Amino acid sequence: MLTILPLGCYGSDLEEKKCISMRVTPSTLIDAGAILSNMSKPELLKIKHIVVTHSHYDHVKDLPTLSDFMLSYGFHTFTIHTTRTIAEQIQKHIFNDLIWPDFTKLPGKGTPTITFEYFEFGKPFTVDGVEFLPIEVDHVVESVGFILRKEGVSIGYSGDTCRCPRFIEALNAEENLRALCWETSFPNRLAVIAKNSKHLTPKDLESELAQVQRNVPVWVFHMKPSMLDEIEKELGELRTDKPVRFMRQKSPIVAG
Ligand SMILES: [Zn+2]
Ligand SMILES: [Zn+2]
Repeated sequence: MLTILPLGCYGSDLEEKKCISMRVTPSTLIDAGAILSNMSKPELLKIKHIVVTHSHYDHVKDLPTLSDFMLSYGFHTFTIHTTRTIAEQIQKHIFNDLIWPDFTKLPGKGTPTITFEYFEFGKPFTVDGVEFLPIEVDHVVESVGFILRKEGVSIGYSGDTCRCPRFIEALNAEENLRALCWETSFPNRLAVIAKNSKHLTPKDLESELAQVQRNVPVWVFHMKPSMLDEIEKELGELRTDKPVRFMRQKSPIVAG
């Protein structure tokens, strides 16, 4: 069974709505937008792997505090899986001893709290029994979408992207696709902001879904929480043959 448990599934923080973090297994999360405030200490200690889609704040927000927790709570360690480019951005702009200490050198050189492991687009890698096929999507910085595979079933996960033929091509090539997680950030009236920040509106999503051959449920995430009602109303009016649902925090997406 392949499961994605959203700990945070919005494109920013507002009240109880939190930035992006998806628990794929007890040890493995996609993105670090909402970890510390959402998990108990025993759950946090099980984390061994964070798979990072890109360097934007809403996806890396808790990497500094998670590294501090892991070190200060008893010299625990974890691995950040991402591309070499994104790893360099995170190292240069967060763990630079200015914004936050360099936890690749703490508690000491040779005993890092954080280790980076690089993956390459198009080359599958496996973490805790889940295979990730990384796909380069189209965002304002290097950004990754995935096909997740486990026990013969797959889920497509868009990450942050605007319209992306490469992602759709990968979905259509995936025989055992059972569900899709797809970003939609802005309402249709803000199409210009969506275009310039390389995100999707409901109208864009409708055009993307028309090209996906398999009729599987679509879970929409990364909505801007301040405009949630408006975005969800427009998503409810989509003309598509696929069931479109809103991702909710702590409500698992299961493929099996
Ligand atoms: Zn984002
Ligand atoms: Zn982004």
